[in-house]
Amino acid sequence: MRTGQINVQTENIFPIIKKFLYSDHEIFLRELVSNAVDASQKLKVLSNNGEYKGDLSDIKVEVILDKTAKTLTIRDNGIGMTADEIDKYINQIAFSGAEEFVQMYQGKEGAEQIIGHFGLGFYSAFMVAERVQIQTLSRHEGSQAVQWESNGSPEYTITDIEKSTRGTDIVLYISEDAVEFLEKAKIDEILTKYCKFLPIPVFFGTKTEYIDSPEGEKDENGKVKRVAIEVENQVNNVSPAWTKAPVDLTKDDYDAFYRELYPASFDSPLFHIHLNVDYPFNLTGILYFPKIKENVEVQRNKINLYSNQVFITDSVAEIVPEFLTLLHGVIDSPDIPLNVSRSYLQSDGNVKKISAHITKKVADKLAEMYKNDRKDFEEKWDDLQIFVQYGSLSDEKFADKAKTFTLLKDTKGGFFTVEEFKEKVAPLQTNNEGKVVFLYTNNPEEQYSFIKKANDRGYEVLHIDGPLAPHWISLMEQSFENCSFARVDSDTLDKLIQKTDEIPSKLSKEEEEKLQPVFEKVLSKDKFKVQFESMSADDAPIIITQPEFIRRMMEQQKIGGAGFMGAFPEMYTVAVNGNHAKIGSLLQKEDAAQVELVKQLTDLALLSQGMLKGAALSEFIERTTALVE
Ligand code: ADP
Ligand code: MG
Repeated sequence: MRTGQINVQTENIFPIIKKFLYSDHEIFLRELVSNAVDASQKLKVLSNNGEYKGDLSDIKVEVILDKTAKTLTIRDNGIGMTADEIDKYINQIAFSGAEEFVQMYQGKEGAEQIIGHFGLGFYSAFMVAERVQIQTLSRHEGSQAVQWESNGSPEYTITDIEKSTRGTDIVLYISEDAVEFLEKAKIDEILTKYCKFLPIPVFFGTKTEYIDSPEGEKDENGKVKRVAIEVENQVNNVSPAWTKAPVDLTKDDYDAFYRELYPASFDSPLFHIHLNVDYPFNLTGILYFPKIKENVEVQRNKINLYSNQVFITDSVAEIVPEFLTLLHGVIDSPDIPLNVSRSYLQSDGNVKKISAHITKKVADKLAEMYKNDRKDFEEKWDDLQIFVQYGSLSDEKFADKAKTFTLLKDTKGGFFTVEEFKEKVAPLQTNNEGKVVFLYTNNPEEQYSFIKKANDRGYEVLHIDGPLAPHWISLMEQSFENCSFARVDSDTLDKLIQKTDEIPSKLSKEEEEKLQPVFEKVLSKDKFKVQFESMSADDAPIIITQPEFIRRMMEQQKIGGAGFMGAFPEMYTVAVNGNHAKIGSLLQKEDAAQVELVKQLTDLALLSQGMLKGAALSEFIERTTALVE
C-alpha cells in the first residue's frame, strides 16, 4: 500500500465541491454513470481498432444499492485502470482523461461518443459520500487489480486487491447528510432523469415481468398460464429515436418516442422535425409540435437538452429562441458548452448558430407542410396559429418566411393567405384612402350582430383571437402594404370602411345639437362620446363601439409591452343614427318622454355589446317588463 496527496491547489477542495452545486447533489450519479459508459465505449473503440481482443458481448453498467452497508456502487466492465492510470486520471485532478482519449483516437469509430466532462466529474462523488473507493482491473492482460480510496481529504491510499473481472467499481459510502441516496426510489428517479437514453445498457435492481409458464401449465380455460418472474431492470433505451436516421423511422415510431419522453401526455404531437447537423456544429434531435391551444405556459420548457445521450437540462431558454420553447422534444449536442454560466451561453457563437439553425428548420418545415398539403395545414392551423404568431413577432427572419404560410380564417371557416384575402375583399372593402380594411372578430358569438350587418353589406369578417392577436395584427399591418385591421365592433361600418359617397343626413345641425344633451344626460361623459352619424336607415338607432386604437392599447397593456406606463382610460363611442326613424321621432316628444326613449335605446345598444350589467340590467328588465302588454 502507498499513500499520496491528490494534486490540488488548495487543501480543502472537497468542502468546496460539496457546497458547489448544493441544490444539484444528485448529478454525482450522472457523472459516475457517464464515466462508466465512457469506460465501456472506450473499450469498444479499442476493440474495433484491434487493440483489444477480449469479449465485449456483455458490456453493461450496473448500479447496486446496499442499504445495510450504506453503499452505492457503480460497476462497469469497461477498460478499467492500472495504478498508473489512476495516478494520472484521478490524482492529477482538473485533467480530463476523456479529452486525451478523444484526441488520441480522433476519427476512430465511436470515439466521438465519449462523454467526458461536465465540470465536476469523478470528484462529485464527494458531494454525497464520506468515503469513496475505486476498485479496478485494467483491460491489459496480466494486470494487477488495485483499489484507490479517499475519505474526502486530499490524502488517498492505493492498495493491490483481488478482482477477477475487468472494469471498475466505484463504491460510495454515503454520508449521514445524504441518506436520501440510499433510497431505491430516489436512485430510480435520478437514473430515469439523466440516464434514460445512455448508449450502454444500465441496470438497477430487478423488476417483475409476466411470461408464459415455462412448464406450459394451463389455467381452467386451457390457456397457458402467465407467471411472474424477476428480471434485471434496464433503465435505459440505448438507441433512442433521435440517434437513428429519419428514413428508418415511421410516424408511429416518432409518436411512440414522444410517449417515451412524456409518459403523462395524452395528446399526440401534431408533427415533428428531425434535426441532424454535423457542420459547423454537431446537433441531433427531434422537436415535436404539441397541440398548444390556449395553455401556452403549461406547455413550456419541455425540450430536453442532452449531450451524447446524457440528460443535461430541461431549461433550454438560453439555447433556443423563446418562441421555440413552446416545442417539445430533444436536442442533443456535444458542442454546447455545459460548464459555463447561463448568461455566457447566450453570447456563445455555437449556441447562436444552433438557435438560428433551429429557427430556420422550423420555418422551412412549416413552409414545406403548407406547400405539400394545404388542406392538412389548414386543419392544423388552430394549433399552429399561436406559434406562428409568436415566432413572427419575435424573429424577423422567421416572420419573413412565415409570410408565405400565415393563414387567416374567416367566420365561415375559409382559410386565406393575407394576399389571397386582400385580393378577395379589395373590391368592396377598400376605403377612401386606398387601404383594404380587414374586418375581424375575436368572438363571433358576442359580436354576432356586428358580423351580420357586415355580411349583409357583402363584407367578409375574419376570426382572429388568442393572446397575441393585438401585437400580431400590428405586425401584419406593417408587413403587408395597404392593409388595415379593424375589429367589426370598433365603429360603425360606414366609419370602419369609409367610402367617398356619404349618406345624406335627415337631421339638421340644429336638430342634432338639440338632442345631444338628452344623450349626455343618460350616458356618462367620462366614458361615452356621443356623436350623430348619417348611417343607413336600417342600421341600428344607436351603436356603441370601442375605438380600435383604444382597445388595442388596452389589450397590449394587459399582455405587456404597450410601450407606455399608466392605465389607459376605458372609452366608448356612441354613434347615434340620425337617419333611423326612432331617432327622428325624438324631436316630437316631451322632455321626460325623450329621456325615457333614449334610455331604452341606449340600454338596448349596451345589451347587444354585453355591457349592460348589475343594477342597470335589473332596472332595464323591470322597465321593459312594464312596457310589455
Ligand atoms: P472526465 O470524465 O471529464 O475525464 P472525470 O473526473 O469524470 O473527468 O474522470 C476522470 C478520468 O478518470 C476519466 O477521464 C477516466 O480516465 C477515469 N475514469 C473515471 N471513471 C472511470 C471508470 N469507471 N473506468 C475507467 N476510467 C475511469
Ligand atoms: Mg466524467
